[in-house]
Amino acid sequence: MNVILIGAPGSGKGTQSRYLIDKHQFLQLSTGDLLRGAIAEKTEIGLMAQGFMDQGKLVPDEVMVKLVESFIDKNKGKSVIFDGFPRTVAQAESLEQMLKKSANQIDKVIFFSIDSELLVSRLTGRRTCAKCGEIYHIETKPSSKGEVCEKCGGELRQRPDDKKEVIGERLAQFEKNTGPTINFYRGKNMLEKVDCAKDPEIVLEEIEEILGLA
Ligand code: AMP
Repeated sequence: MNVILIGAPGSGKGTQSRYLIDKHQFLQLSTGDLLRGAIAEKTEIGLMAQGFMDQGKLVPDEVMVKLVESFIDKNKGKSVIFDGFPRTVAQAESLEQMLKKSANQIDKVIFFSIDSELLVSRLTGRRTCAKCGEIYHIETKPSSKGEVCEKCGGELRQRPDDKKEVIGERLAQFEKNTGPTINFYRGKNMLEKVDCAKDPEIVLEEIEEILGLA
């Protein structure tokens, strides 16, 4: 089963992806994580993507499609959660074509609906473990070990693009590009909506219900 999690930055896609991987046999494709990995390794793609990411802009579609294509080729036959991809209608159309090649398809698209005011406080307070990727929040989900991850002891960091100056542009990009992508799936009757202002455990239950995993 292939599932897309689509929603604004800070709506909780990453957190729900981690829950779904832990509880069910999914692979996560987080294009944001892939790009941050490429930046850390200073690859050609990483060096090119960094400027866009630092400004809260989207990395060009051609680059993203290539990245995703190689992931799909390597993981044929596995159940994938697409987290952060597609973000544009062009990416959505490419994904359809890529999956078609191996007689595969997207089964569900889950739209993470949330008030934009909530997003800013979620993003500015978010801290991520540099080692295992566990996601915390300084107010709503602090680590009991302070600046250190409870799970692996890694250092908790704020993503550079979670700073106030960049968040506005990320939300604008979401409205401009991902809004039409959501409508693309709505038009195909594939969209399922969850209210992400709710407790993450409740949101997970709703997603499990939608996916028939409850
Ligand atoms: P995320 O971790 O999903 O919030 O992504 C962080 C940043 O990576 C975004 O603000 C974009 O600059 C870039 N990015 C991630 N996924 C995509 C995508 N599908 N298309 C274009 N840019 C992306």
